[in-house]
Amino acid sequence: MPWPQAKEQSEARTLLVVDDREANLVAMEALLGDEDWTVHTVNSGEAALQALLDLDVELVLLDVQMPGMDGFEVARLMRGNPHTRYTPIIFVSAIAHTRESVLRGYATGAVDFVLKPFDPQVLKLKINTLLSHEHNRRNLQLLSQQLDSARAFNASVLNNAAEGILVVGEDGYINFANPAIARMLHTDVEHLQGTALADHLASPQLPDAWRDSDFYKHWRNGETYRLHEAQLNTARGGTLPVALSASPLPRQQRSMVVIALDMSVVRNLHVQLETQAVTDSLTGLLNRRGFHQALDSALARVDRNGKRMAILYIDLDGFKRINDSLGHDAGDEILCRVARLLETCMRPYDIIARMGGDEFTALLDSLDHPEDAARVAEKLIELISVRHTVDGTEVTLGASIGIAHFPDCGQSVEELLRSADMAMYEAKRAGRQQYRFFSKEMNGRAHARLMMEENLRSTIDRNGFDLVYQPQIMLETGELRGFEALLRWDFKGRGEVEPNVFIPLLEETRLIDRVGQWALREGMAQCREWRDSFGKDLVLSFNVSPVQFGRAGLLDDLRRLLDEFQLDPHQLELEVTEGALMQDLQQSCDQLRRLRELGVRVAVDDFGTGYSSLAYLRHFELDTLKIDRLFIANMLDSPRDAAVVSTIIDLGRNLELEVIAEGVETVAQRDWLVAHGCQVMQGFLVAPGLTLEETQNFPSQVDWLQLDEVGSS
Ligand code: C2E
Ligand code: CA
Ligand code: CA
Repeated sequence: MPWPQAKEQSEARTLLVVDDREANLVAMEALLGDEDWTVHTVNSGEAALQALLDLDVELVLLDVQMPGMDGFEVARLMRGNPHTRYTPIIFVSAIAHTRESVLRGYATGAVDFVLKPFDPQVLKLKINTLLSHEHNRRNLQLLSQQLDSARAFNASVLNNAAEGILVVGEDGYINFANPAIARMLHTDVEHLQGTALADHLASPQLPDAWRDSDFYKHWRNGETYRLHEAQLNTARGGTLPVALSASPLPRQQRSMVVIALDMSVVRNLHVQLETQAVTDSLTGLLNRRGFHQALDSALARVDRNGKRMAILYIDLDGFKRINDSLGHDAGDEILCRVARLLETCMRPYDIIARMGGDEFTALLDSLDHPEDAARVAEKLIELISVRHTVDGTEVTLGASIGIAHFPDCGQSVEELLRSADMAMYEAKRAGRQQYRFFSKEMNGRAHARLMMEENLRSTIDRNGFDLVYQPQIMLETGELRGFEALLRWDFKGRGEVEPNVFIPLLEETRLIDRVGQWALREGMAQCREWRDSFGKDLVLSFNVSPVQFGRAGLLDDLRRLLDEFQLDPHQLELEVTEGALMQDLQQSCDQLRRLRELGVRVAVDDFGTGYSSLAYLRHFELDTLKIDRLFIANMLDSPRDAAVVSTIIDLGRNLELEVIAEGVETVAQRDWLVAHGCQVMQGFLVAPGLTLEETQNFPSQVDWLQLDEVGSS
């Protein structure tokens, strides 16, 4: 405990005998010795005062008549000193005193008078009694000091506690309030004491009778009552969120201590976090989650007055180009500008959100006619589709908008959003800068797509995909270079679904990643076995979707698989489309460099069909260009296509990239390619995608003379 402990004063009991005559002192010493006290003698008043300072004297036997300072004077001085104020004094006198002088003696602080000659026995008894009084007095004094410091300690705890502390009597009135609670409520302690606790509670509201309140009920049962979410009224007319606990004090106090914890900071943090979770930090609009919530609650309280609700799905045209060419800051600026434009077009109660990237949504509530949504969409397209200046550069922007109505186009948040999204795609397909309503026919497609999606998921779960392998042949020698792995999906045993149909679906649903990982493992295991059957290391090409290519974990996956199947990294080729490479130039460069470091080859698939500028090609670390099969199909008839093919072949030679011609179906096409210096081909002329057994029987060198043209056999 922080204050001094009570300590019994029992040891040295010292008597001080003061007399100017030596003989008297000796006599007194002889008389009082042999008791359980120590006798100390001095022969003058001055010496007595000094001894009182030096020793802890408990009783003074004081001669009255002394030369110089007499006994009365000594007593008077003793009483004036706080240290000796209460030390008992017995006056010892040889002469009978007048009544006045006796009174004077008592007035100076004498406790008793003893006249000589005296009965030593009586004196000893008197001394004993006085000593035990003095002893009690001293203990009492010590206790009261301890009590004072304990009280001060408690008070400082209460005064300095950060939590509000109230003591509330069984009648519900506040007996005590600490400064913290006064501060919290913007008032002072005096104004709180004597008031009813109920008057300070904004919530929960207490019943009229205090005895019906939970505070009282808990108190009566000797239990602590906790309220995690309460509100107190402040003197400024506001409320303060607090957590309260009311604990009973010991029975005889008939009261409880109520502790109030200021929750405003925590509460504000919560509110802030919640807002952050639903707002888009760039534009300040709602984010995807916020829009879902808003739409959800709009659906819950949807008008029954015949008015309609519409969802607009807005996708910017040309945003990617701005972002790529002018940088992310310019892109961000454009997005913010569009957000502000959207706000100007909407009525105050419409809800706008940014769903991510360059996609926005709007919820138009209470429309009189479905066409009203079209009017808004038209206005939006008009406002957005102007020239914008960013950083001094003029850029053109546009918007495609899909519209879905409730309840015709969907009943749930998901359905409505999907419908609007589909309508938006339709608008894009129709040539951008347009809006489209979701239609019945789109609905049918949406339904079919949903079914297919479900099937894809279950196919993944039961490992129901297959790979076929299309041979790639060196044009000069007919040697087998390797195979391209192609994904196959037998839809419920009803025949194969075109990869061009289900792969975009896998991409949209982000399922492609899982399937892609499966394909890599499956194909690489195969590649390991070909080493034995062909007696050499073949290249195995995989098509990698943009999603897969951009994934950070791709490198780790490849490294692990190469290690597991003991393949040379050079045997592995990833086919990436131009689109995938152009998504994020910096990221692509980095990813390509990492692949190069690992030793894995990279081919650009469908080369020539994308928008990639040749300038970029120099910066990418690539190995192979694959000429799109459309050019091959047309090159013998179309000089333009022939020019494209021979340009690509030249480009490959100059950049030291291998060039593969895809979709070669005729000997004439092959001959043309050989004549123009193309190195590798693949196509139905040699073989379509082969099953595993078929690859086992495939020759490691093709005899060109033996080949039949497609369709001619
Ligand atoms: P792609 O990468 O251009 O694949 C070549 C496609 O051309 C294959 O179609 C192949 O069967 C076809 N083909 C090969 N030779 C000829 C020919 O001489 N004439 C004609 N007309 N066609 C030929 P498939 O298998 O239908 O694949 C279509 C597309 O699906 C592929 O185009 C590729 O982009 C994608 N794909 C296929 N498998 C995968 C995969 O495992 N992952 C990913 N992400 N995409 C894949
Ligand atoms: Ca390919
Ligand atoms: Ca291709």
